[in-house]
Amino acid sequence: MIQEVDFHSHTVHSDGTLTPVELVELAGKRGIKALALTDHDTTSGLEEAIKAGQRVGVELIPGIEISVVYDPGTMHILGYFMDHHSPKLQESLRGIQQDRENRNPQIIKKLNEFGVKITLDEVIRESGRGQVGRPHFARVLVKKKYVKNFDEAFRKYLSKGAPAYVDKRRVTPADGIRMIREAGGMAVLAHPKQLRAKSDEEFDRALDSLVASGLGGIEAYSSCQNESEAKTYKAAGEKRKIFVTGGSDFHGANKSDVELGNMGNWARLTYDTVRGMKEYLKTGNHGH
Ligand code: AMP
Ligand code: FE
Ligand code: FE
Ligand code: ZN
Repeated sequence: MIQEVDFHSHTVHSDGTLTPVELVELAGKRGIKALALTDHDTTSGLEEAIKAGQRVGVELIPGIEISVVYDPGTMHILGYFMDHHSPKLQESLRGIQQDRENRNPQIIKKLNEFGVKITLDEVIRESGRGQVGRPHFARVLVKKKYVKNFDEAFRKYLSKGAPAYVDKRRVTPADGIRMIREAGGMAVLAHPKQLRAKSDEEFDRALDSLVASGLGGIEAYSSCQNESEAKTYKAAGEKRKIFVTGGSDFHGANKSDVELGNMGNWARLTYDTVRGMKEYLKTGNHGH
């Protein structure tokens, strides 16, 4: 089922396969009213997406997805409605980009050590124009027949624990939230399932600490969360009086089973959430 609003999507500016124009046109075709573009650690696709949105009648919510330090699992903080021209925000993002650029040659070096002959140039070419990430390494490995498919590229070489894995420096959760809030935006915890909390207590502690740092919402509906997980995260958000949101986490052909606007048949997400967020950012009050 396609929702009115999709709060989580990617383009070629990070690890998606559609351009911002293609993404927004697809949203228009699907009847999506408001779409957040949330590329990883960059806002470089937003201008193009906003313009396309005006043309096709889709409200483009300026967004971002920041990877933050969280050892037990993966923690991503989504930002919405920030002023993406903020010099302070852009400076922090440049620091993150620099770390990525330092990491890429290290991944190449490890791959070469394992007899995989690919070059950084080939990976950069594969990325088109956005930032270079592991999915681009994966696509080159597939093209050059070192692996059969994308998943095998991660399993054999690129995922955490595999031989060519190189970690990147991340900001702390509190700093990620601060970056978004200082630019006037709202911070939301992406796909809480990926925290891989080992108990309810561990999850509650992590979420409480984020809320204390200024988290404003939780992504209950996601293509990676099932109905019972969605229920749990929705209740966790309601209990803390933060926004309950949802997003498909659409990546185009890099996650071909995920459909833009679809976050499970149990999802119930309407434009009211967008209205509520805007109201909250303006007045500091929840619109309900
Ligand atoms: P990077 O930001 O360069 O570390 O790459 C992270 C991206 O790689 C994620 O956003 C996913 O799109 C993709 N990714 C990470 N782990 C896997 C995996 N095990 N299988 C497929 N894609 C993955
Ligand atoms: Fe991604
Ligand atoms: Fe994510
Ligand atoms: Zn994402």
